[in-house]
Amino acid sequence: MEGKDNNKILRMTNQRKIILEELCKVFSHPTANDVYKMVRKKLPRVSLGTVYRNLELLSSCNTIQKLDFGEPHKRFDGNPEPHYHINCTKCGRVDDSPLPLKPGLEEEAELASGYQISSHHISFSGICPDCQTQVAAN
Ligand SMILES: [Zn+2]
Ligand SMILES: [Zn+2]
Repeated sequence: MEGKDNNKILRMTNQRKIILEELCKVFSHPTANDVYKMVRKKLPRVSLGTVYRNLELLSSCNTIQKLDFGEPHKRFDGNPEPHYHINCTKCGRVDDSPLPLKPGLEEEAELASGYQISSHHISFSGICPDCQTQVAAN
């Protein structure tokens, strides 16, 4: 229960720690429901609401990221560092973009808009390699 002070902002309950650990194990950018299914193997009595609340809390502290691809359910990313995403419009798969962050993009946008830019998000959409082979096979 007590233990390591590895998060200064948020009190790490055991439940929250397991939710974070499970999320950080995957690179699939799961929804709260996906995380719930993963976490239930370790916390059989946890509820979807608890998982959802903890994910919201972790993302509000920037320990994780919440991603919106215009789908009915938001996705979560255990990697809090800014990075771009790419998503498949056929199967809904979300990957990290292989392209690095563009340095200077925020300055460019500031100059063009007069805004003080604090962050930016880029996501690419398209058809993933797996779905492309399926299309080709048909
Ligand atoms: Zn796909
Ligand atoms: Zn990501």
